[in-house]
Amino acid sequence: MSSLTEKDRPIVQLLLNAGTCPRCILRFCSVGSQMLYRHPYKDLMKVLKEFLKNGPEKEDTVCFDVVDPPCKRIRLEHPEEGPEDLNHNGALQQIPQVNDENTAVENSDVKVCNVCLGILQEFCEADFVKKVCQKVNSADYQFTSFVFSVSLPPQLSVRERAAWLVLKQEMRATACPDCFKPAKNKQSVFTRMAVIKALEKIKEEDFLKHFPCPPSSPKNLCVALEIQCNNGAVFVAGRYNKYSRSLPQTPWIIDGERKLESSVEELISEHLMAEFKADSFNFSSSGREDVDVRTLGNGRPFAIELVNPRRIHFTAEEMKRLQQTINTSSDKIQVRDLQLVTREAIGRMKEGEEEKTKTYSALIWTEKAIQKEDIAFLDDIKELKLDQKTPLRVLHRRPLAVRCRIIHTMRSEYIDEHHFRLHLKTQAGTYIKEFVHGDFGRTKPNIGSLLNRTADILELDVESVDVDWPPTLDN
Ligand SMILES: [Zn+2]
Repeated sequence: MSSLTEKDRPIVQLLLNAGTCPRCILRFCSVGSQMLYRHPYKDLMKVLKEFLKNGPEKEDTVCFDVVDPPCKRIRLEHPEEGPEDLNHNGALQQIPQVNDENTAVENSDVKVCNVCLGILQEFCEADFVKKVCQKVNSADYQFTSFVFSVSLPPQLSVRERAAWLVLKQEMRATACPDCFKPAKNKQSVFTRMAVIKALEKIKEEDFLKHFPCPPSSPKNLCVALEIQCNNGAVFVAGRYNKYSRSLPQTPWIIDGERKLESSVEELISEHLMAEFKADSFNFSSSGREDVDVRTLGNGRPFAIELVNPRRIHFTAEEMKRLQQTINTSSDKIQVRDLQLVTREAIGRMKEGEEEKTKTYSALIWTEKAIQKEDIAFLDDIKELKLDQKTPLRVLHRRPLAVRCRIIHTMRSEYIDEHHFRLHLKTQAGTYIKEFVHGDFGRTKPNIGSLLNRTADILELDVESVDVDWPPTLDN
């Protein structure tokens, strides 16, 4: 059972006279029990006034637990409230208006608090809680737990400081000033930070010169500008195949102009966005292929972060249907193993990316005619070390460097005098096109130098991306 003690009397008196609300007064008296703050605002006011009326010889503590009338009833019976209050014209209707001087003393319990601007008055009452609940319900989110965070006006910190200083000055209060740190919230707003920084710097005597202590009573109640709902991100992973040689992985935009109308990430994400009712998405994958390269085999692992989704619960059956929807809507891509994953699991897609192997199939053209025997020796080459200077075609976005890459194995397939197919198993990150044509000698050795004739690559397919994530599903 928490209570106010005799030493709190002057604090209660001073703050009540200054126009501070009961909940703020309890804070400044270092009352820690949450239970007390839950009592209806008007009950708290009544109890504080009782506390001041009773002399120290009669009683030296105030116990709140004995006062427990239902809050609703008290509100409706209040003599100052007219019958229109029964009309339920909205939750904010009962916010006290600025009182004229005559009634201010009588109705000091409805003055807007000079420290919290009314945030611990109306916003702690059932009506405002109802309003928040309505907003949450109407936003139509699926959720199992929630965080309620409040963004407070920056001037609250200043008022808090002013109230604290006056207590310190006039009461020589001994309570720990750490109790009165400005309320913190998650979203950092520059102006709020600035106010807090300024308050940290300013000397007490300067503060007293610039700001009334205790803070003056505000004319208007602080209003809730917005009640916002947000859901944590949900992650979906899978593997995709790309069957088109004119489809980029992500939107291809040069100088603000779109080059191709679609992309892998859009073809997948548009369906996820609609089903999860998310605000936006972030696409990531295990490496990427060029716009003219197909990705075959089991496909390339990808993950999509869905930001602020309304819907988050999907059964395996629903995910399967979603996958079918994606697959029937385009013949340029296919997805498999579509599933919900955790944020942490996505790390596995990226980790060790350099060490992973990839297999490719390249259609190669040679200037000088070839016979089967000319290319057969390629099959015997194992663990071929390459020095690859950053390719000319990516030099505008990658730093110039020489990277060592390994071609683990090769298998050739003769087609005709100027064409053959080469299957390669390589270290991830190897530039295959450059390994074939040599990139003006920037990749050494290369197919051209090995065959001792000019060679070029006509088509390239990714045959497998050897990353064992996400888990394979049996659909
Ligand atoms: Zn207050």
